[in-house]
Amino acid sequence: HKSVEFKTAQPNQWLGLLGGGQLGRMFCMAAQRLGYKVLVLDPATNSPAGSVADGQVLADYLDDAGLAELAQRCVGVTTEFENVPALAMETLAASIPVSPSAFSVGVAQNRIEEKSYISGCGVPVAPHAPIRQAEDITAALETLLPGILKTARLGYDGKGQVRVKTLDDVKAAFDNLNQVECVLEKRLTLLKEVSVIVARDHQGECVTFPVAENHHRKGILATTIVPARIDDVMAAQARASAISIARALDYVGVLCVEFFVVEGMGLVVNEIAPRPHNSGHYSIDACVTCQFEQQARILAGLPLGDTRQHSPSVMVNLLGDLWFDAQGNEREPNWPGVLAMPEVKLHLYGKEQARVGRKMGHITVVAATLDRALEVAEAVRSLLG
Ligand code: ADP
Ligand code: MG
Repeated sequence: HKSVEFKTAQPNQWLGLLGGGQLGRMFCMAAQRLGYKVLVLDPATNSPAGSVADGQVLADYLDDAGLAELAQRCVGVTTEFENVPALAMETLAASIPVSPSAFSVGVAQNRIEEKSYISGCGVPVAPHAPIRQAEDITAALETLLPGILKTARLGYDGKGQVRVKTLDDVKAAFDNLNQVECVLEKRLTLLKEVSVIVARDHQGECVTFPVAENHHRKGILATTIVPARIDDVMAAQARASAISIARALDYVGVLCVEFFVVEGMGLVVNEIAPRPHNSGHYSIDACVTCQFEQQARILAGLPLGDTRQHSPSVMVNLLGDLWFDAQGNEREPNWPGVLAMPEVKLHLYGKEQARVGRKMGHITVVAATLDRALEVAEAVRSLLG
C-alpha cells in the first residue's frame, strides 16, 4: 500500500485529529504550542479536544463529507483513540498523510493479530489461544488456566475481560461475552507492569521515552512512576523491544508498548496502543519533549524532539470517583489544596460530568528525587481522599 508523502508543515497550517477525548486535547495543546492549528473531527459537542481545538467538524467518523473536509483543510491527520474505524483512515490516506497507518491501528485493534505480530518480531507475549467459537474450548486449553478471557476487540480499562479457572468458566464467560471473538490468556504472576512510549517518524527515525512503571486499580491505570524501578539491562531491553515492534509495523507516529515483568520469564508484551498513552502523560511535565509534541512533530514532518527526562516523576490519575463523597453526593475536589503543594502539576480535561471510573484529569509530581515524588504523590492522594 503506497501512502501519500509527508511534507514539512508551516506554522498556521492545519493538523487534523480523529477523536475528541483527552488524548486529543493534549495533542491540540502541543500542536498549538508549535504554531499549528488543529481541526478535530468528532460527533460530540464540548468534547475535551473539540473545546480547545481551533476548529471542529461535528460529524461521525465515517461521515464522507466530514472526512472530505478534514482531507481538504489539513496537511495530515492523526488519531487519539484506538477504535477509530479503519475505513475512515483508509479514506483519508488516499489524499493526505495519516499517522499512524490504518494497517498499524488495525493490528492493535485485535488482540490475536497483535500478539502474532509481536511474537513475529521475536518479542515474547503471554501464552494464549484464540477462541472464536464454542468448539475452540477444548481440554488443550488447560495449560492456560487459571487465565483471563479477553474480547479480541474493543476492550479497554479492564472491560471485556473475565477471570477464569476452569474450562466450564471459560464456556460460561464466552457465552456471557456473546461469543464474540476472544483470546484466552494464561494468568501470569506479575512482578511489575511497565510501558515504553516510542515515537517513529516517516523517515524511520525512532526514539523512546524512559520506561514507566504502572500501577492499576480495578483494571484502570492509577499511578505511573518514572523511571521504572527495574534494572538498567531490563530497561534497555524494554526500549529495544518497543523499537523492534515499531519498525516491524513500519509505524509512523507515537506508539505505547505495555509489558509485564514476569518471574522466570522477564519482559512479556501485554498489548500495544497505537497512540499516545495514559502512562506517557508524565512526559508533559518531566521530559524535554512530551509524547503529544512528538505526535505533532511527526505529523508535521519535523524532526523528533529530545525525550530526556529532567525530573523524576509520579503521575496520579484523577478518576471521577474523587468527585463524590462517601454518601455519593457530588463535590469538587480540593484543587487549591493540591495546587498549594510544591512539585505538583494539575491537568484537568474539561469534562462536565464526573462519573465513577471516568478519567477526569491527572496530576504529575515532578521532584528532585523519585523518593520525594512518591512522598508528594502520597500526600496528594490523602488530601483528595
Ligand atoms: P486493557 O485493554 O483493558 O488495558 P489489558 O490486557 O492491558 O487490558 O489488561 C488490563 C490489566 O489486567 C493489565 O494491566 C494487568 O494488570 C491485568 N492483566 C491482563 N492480562 C493479564 C495476564 N495475562 N496475567 C496477569 N494479569 C493480566
Ligand atoms: Mg492495558
